[in-house]
Amino acid sequence: MWISVKALPAAVLADESRYCLFAASTARNELFAKEEHMKIAILMCCCSGVCPSMDKINFFELTERLRLEVPHDFMLLHPRLCEENGEALMRDLLKPDTIYITPACNEKHQMKLLAAGFQKAGVPMDEKHWIPVTLAQKDTEQAFADIKEAVEKAKGMAS
Ligand code: SF4
Repeated sequence: MWISVKALPAAVLADESRYCLFAASTARNELFAKEEHMKIAILMCCCSGVCPSMDKINFFELTERLRLEVPHDFMLLHPRLCEENGEALMRDLLKPDTIYITPACNEKHQMKLLAAGFQKAGVPMDEKHWIPVTLAQKDTEQAFADIKEAVEKAKGMAS
C-alpha cells in the first residue's frame, strides 16, 4: 500500500533520527557495470511534502518510474535536505567520485541551501559534481522528463 508523501513528514521530522529517507534505490544496468566511471546519483528533496509549488508531483510515482526507466547508480528521497539532518546525510554519504543530480527547489535556492551539505562532505558543488533540477511548478511528468534529461547529461560527463 502506498502512503501519501503528505502524510509522512510530521512523523518523520518528529523522529530523532540523525537523518531520514523516504526512499532509496539503485537502478543499474550494463552501462553502469564498469566501475571506472563517475557514479550518477539522484538526490531528491520533496520539501517536506507540503510545499504548494510541488503539489502536482507524486514523489512515489516519480521515484518508482526513475528506478525502472532511468538507469543510475543510486537515488535518495529526503524531506528536507537543507536542514540539519539533511546536511548530516550529505556529509556522510556524498563522495567526490559521484555526479549528484538534485531535483528540489529552484536552482538559485539550491545553490545557497545545499552548499553546506556539499561542503561538509568535501564534494565541490561544481559542474563536474552537481546538476540541479528545479521541481517547483512542475507536475510528475515534467519532473520525470527533466530528471531523465539530467541523467543523460551526467552519463555524457561520466563516461
Ligand atoms: S532544499 Fe529546497 S526543496 Fe529541499 S527542503 Fe530545502 S527549500 Fe525545500
